[in-house]
Amino acid sequence: MRRLNNYLNGSWVEVESEGAVPVYNPATGEVIAETPLSTHADVARAVEGAKRAFASWSRMPVVKRARVLFDFLAKLKAERDNIAKMITTEHGKSYVDAQAEVDRGIEGIEHALSAPTLMMGESLAEVSEGLEQTYYRYPLGVVASITPFNFPSMIPLWVMGWAVVTGNALILKPSEQTPMTTLRLIEMFHEAGLPSGVLQAVNGGKEAVDAILRHPEIVAVNFTGSTRTAAYVYETAARHHKRVQAFAGAKNHAIVLEDAVLEPTVDGILRAAFHNGGQRCMATSVVVAVGSVADEVVERLAEGARRMKIGHGFEEGVDVTPLIRKEHRDRVQAYVDEAAMSARLVVDGRPAIEEHPEGFYLGPCLLDGVTPDMRVWQEELFGPVLSVVRARDLDEAIAIANRSRYANGAIVYTQSGKAAQVFRDRIDAGMVGVNVNVPLPVAFFPFGGHKDSFYGVTGENGKELVQFFTRKKVVSTRWF
Ligand code: NAD
Repeated sequence: MRRLNNYLNGSWVEVESEGAVPVYNPATGEVIAETPLSTHADVARAVEGAKRAFASWSRMPVVKRARVLFDFLAKLKAERDNIAKMITTEHGKSYVDAQAEVDRGIEGIEHALSAPTLMMGESLAEVSEGLEQTYYRYPLGVVASITPFNFPSMIPLWVMGWAVVTGNALILKPSEQTPMTTLRLIEMFHEAGLPSGVLQAVNGGKEAVDAILRHPEIVAVNFTGSTRTAAYVYETAARHHKRVQAFAGAKNHAIVLEDAVLEPTVDGILRAAFHNGGQRCMATSVVVAVGSVADEVVERLAEGARRMKIGHGFEEGVDVTPLIRKEHRDRVQAYVDEAAMSARLVVDGRPAIEEHPEGFYLGPCLLDGVTPDMRVWQEELFGPVLSVVRARDLDEAIAIANRSRYANGAIVYTQSGKAAQVFRDRIDAGMVGVNVNVPLPVAFFPFGGHKDSFYGVTGENGKELVQFFTRKKVVSTRWF
């Protein structure tokens, strides 16, 4: 069995502890590698090397740092399809979705090339007579990133580009469930000329995260994952006086108004709910069907869901791919079992478990008549389950969506500009779509949710990450 290594100081290094967890191919259930579980000592070793690298990397002009990203970008583009294959193999999502994921990651690196502009400070020549003031941005030092399983290239690429180009040294802990793609990206960055120690990969789970959160020389932590872990990371890092932001779980609502154009609306909702097995923080998991359109929406969603093709990620035209782990699939199935006792299970995806015993499959499940007192509405399932809640009007629909503890994305489907405006102003969500099924901000717009979907102040992408990964120094100057 291939046991993965940490990538420290420019080369692969074995993890001393024997602890490990399997990496699966979710489409076949095969174990394809083992992720070693790093300990405090492994994290300490990574920090040592990062500290040394930071001393020279942080003093290198930002233009030169950006040139390393240029070379990395060229490699990324050349290897895009290979990276996508790795994603499909260890995550299970379709090859087409994996390619799109790499493309979104590439856009993050492209945007990070504008660091020389975005790192500029500001000056005022005469704040008072003969006195000028300027602020400059400086990197923080050794920083860390902890990433989730569901985007093993996009999220690490977004974070690593900005963390490093702003002059920091980064300790990156990939998801132990999908580490191989991320590890390859880190190796490629070095092949492109990144000095050793600037980007250190530490494999592992909770123990490695705890070591990161408690290490006195790691000054900032950028986290993405479930709300429960995000809250823990946010609180623990803050208790250890670190700068921290944590992107967390979601329960995204799509409101369908009576004037929505139903064909593209239903098509978009089906893809947003069921592609990637629903394992996206921008997935639609609740449809709020308003007024008289509800029956037709449910009927069309049911027809579409029944037509969806279930299969492995390399199959042509596949829609619903396996879930990441058997335990996760069983957990999602248990939610469906429970919900079916109080809501109407219009499309039952559970037979796919028997029909595809080779992997961690669950077919698309559609529930009608869901209400906010049901767990299936309240909690993030992260699976191919779509709940339909019925509402009288837009006001009630917005009120239902705003009752959720999550507030990552939200969408309205309508032809009315006025209704879209009301929705935009009243909905509590960080990323809002108007007839857009996955309102993912492009690389130069801020990414992040509200409430229990995000703990922090700034956000992901461009200016937000420059803000997060730098600190300001204000210099007052007078000449005699
Ligand atoms: P997770 O919380 O299980 O794991 C995320 C990271 O935290 C991993 O690196 C993992 O090793 C580590 N971790 C897990 N349990 C831990 C613990 N008890 N203590 C310390 N560290 C721990 O999340 P996941 O299952 O990998 O990812 C899916 C979740 O991520 C979903 O909830 C999804 O909504 C969320 N997500 C959010 C965004 C966003 O931008 N808001 C983006 C992608 C995924």
